[in-house]
Amino acid sequence: MGQLLCLDFDGVMNSYTSGWIKEDPTYLPDDAVPGCFAFINQARQHFDIVIHSSRLRYEGAERSMRNWMVREAQKQGFNLQDAEDIEGNVTFSVAKPPAHVTLDDRAIQFNGVFPDLDAIIDFRPWNKRANLIDRSVAPRRMTPDDLFEILLKHVGDTRLSDFEKDKLSAASDEINVFLLG
Ligand SMILES: [Mg+2]
Repeated sequence: MGQLLCLDFDGVMNSYTSGWIKEDPTYLPDDAVPGCFAFINQARQHFDIVIHSSRLRYEGAERSMRNWMVREAQKQGFNLQDAEDIEGNVTFSVAKPPAHVTLDDRAIQFNGVFPDLDAIIDFRPWNKRANLIDRSVAPRRMTPDDLFEILLKHVGDTRLSDFEKDKLSAASDEINVFLLG
């Protein structure tokens, strides 16, 4: 048994664009996050992969998540046999296991200093933030708010003063020239 890598399911593997479907928590209509299965396929050469989700409290959830994995791995380019091989070599846990690392969309790495409460109150997972460095979408003008979102994403939930926001706003034109030029 090697070290564990723990993956949160919703918001890490599952794009979770439909959110929680309370009528049937085992129903998984959404796509996997891009790169999910290539990542797992690489990571499993180094780690035992444990998938952690509160969905597992529901009857049939593990079966549904396993079927979802096979379906989505194929959509990400794996053939059926490889998809089933990936699915067959992960374990599921309703409790968060002690792991080498846990990937979670709703966690802040604790580094010995407690974060400002505002950073926790205002916390948003990655897919609820502006994602404007995505070059696959047509470039468009960014607003100061967009830039603020990018900054938050890349430097963590640092709070900016109004003065800093003003400077950021002033910088947005220069950045737009770069992005659109
Ligand atoms: Mg999650």
